[in-house]
Amino acid sequence: MGGSTGGSTGGSAGGSAGRSTGGSAAGSTGRSTGGSIRGRARGTANQSLLRALLVARFVRARWGYRFPSRHRFEVWQRRRMRAFVRRARRAPYWAGRRARDFPVTDKTALLEHFDAMNTRGVRLTEALAAAQAAERSRDFTPTVAGDLTVGLSSGTSGRRGAFLVSPRERMLWAGTVLARVLDRAAVAQLLQPWRPPVTIAFFLRAGGGLYESVASSRVRFAYYDLTEPFEALVQRLAGAGRVTVLVGPASVLDALAQASATAGIAAPRLVVSVAEVLEPETAERIEAAWGVRPRQVYQATEGLLALPCDAGALHLAEETVRFDREWLDAGRTRFVPVVTDLERRTQIIARYRLDDVLRVDPAAPERCACGRVTTVLAGVDGRADAVLRLPAVDGSRLVEVFPDVLRRAFALESAAFADWRVTQRGTTVHVALDVPAAGSTADGPGRAPGDSAREAVDRALGEVFDTAGCSATIEHDPWTPRDPAVKLRRIVRESP
Ligand SMILES: [Zn+2]
Repeated sequence: MGGSTGGSTGGSAGGSAGRSTGGSAAGSTGRSTGGSIRGRARGTANQSLLRALLVARFVRARWGYRFPSRHRFEVWQRRRMRAFVRRARRAPYWAGRRARDFPVTDKTALLEHFDAMNTRGVRLTEALAAAQAAERSRDFTPTVAGDLTVGLSSGTSGRRGAFLVSPRERMLWAGTVLARVLDRAAVAQLLQPWRPPVTIAFFLRAGGGLYESVASSRVRFAYYDLTEPFEALVQRLAGAGRVTVLVGPASVLDALAQASATAGIAAPRLVVSVAEVLEPETAERIEAAWGVRPRQVYQATEGLLALPCDAGALHLAEETVRFDREWLDAGRTRFVPVVTDLERRTQIIARYRLDDVLRVDPAAPERCACGRVTTVLAGVDGRADAVLRLPAVDGSRLVEVFPDVLRRAFALESAAFADWRVTQRGTTVHVALDVPAAGSTADGPGRAPGDSAREAVDRALGEVFDTAGCSATIEHDPWTPRDPAVKLRRIVRESP
């Protein structure tokens, strides 16, 4: 996933129960009005406007946006693109440029030209100061230019990107995501006033408190801040009864699912994975524990990338984002997305190259079983630095080993360990396995716990590297437990 910190963006949702509830119109300008009646009236008006925006978008994203053919969809998207170009030119960076001369940008360009890439004249130093203050105080209500929130993209190396989001953009995002993750039964519950409200529990690293302004008698939000002790969060969730929708990073959902039997957590009606790639094995473990297949929202701080459908597919969010594709292979199955967010009006994201690698099936039909003609993803490989690059056997070049291949190798051997991590440094591939302290019976007498698991992994990786035509030294590092407040990345290439 393109490095979202999990929240505070057009990005992943927050919503607060535990935090400052009550009438404060967080997310609208109402918050800073204090006791002024005029201010309060304006805040309330904004709040209803925002809620109306969310509802309108919900309806459109759930029942609208249908096209008779891919061609007709593309015609419609081009029209939206022209409107976007006019708006983008309000930011000094694009002013006066012709659409075809819009350069490809990335995080480096964004940090260099930040001040000119937004339409509100916000400077990078202000945005970063606000974001850091928000992370420190764990209060993510607006702090820049009156009503803008700032999301930070994570990054293993280099500086973090900063992204401004207006209340309008956040509502459109929330409407879109809710429309696509709720199932028919949840929508019915939402619309029938005599039934209990839909409860949505968010487990996030940042960004709580941003959605309370749209909470109503029909929807309740509860925010679980992942920087708090995990044990306490588990207890709070167990005490909350059955939630309708549980939202969180895949690794956190997995941990909650595994803890649910002993902690007494009722199975949620719907489970939504955000902020991390949902790997098939994780999805299976969660389904085994709760009897619900998790749905995936693929989201970067830079924007919404892909959404699930009722047919079980993951669609590119092409209704709101245009994707140009930089192909990585001749068969056109893997690409790096270059995105243009047609909806953002504050911080313009135009032809922005992400760090992610996405997979498609070139033979997929034009129309999904759900009726949509937007592209269906065959998989999400995650960040580009999750692709290992190892020397070819003849030393002539570097060969790429893709994450799905590695994941498959580990999944086949996974009976002997609970978790794994791979880090490439130079030509050495470092592997860490979470093996039980007692090892397994396969280890046999006179051997260290986990020896047989390590040998199995060495064999499996050896086969992967042979098939790819490359070579590497495999080294085993000790396992270190992970912090749920830090985004999980199982595969990382640090160098080259
Ligand atoms: Zn579909």
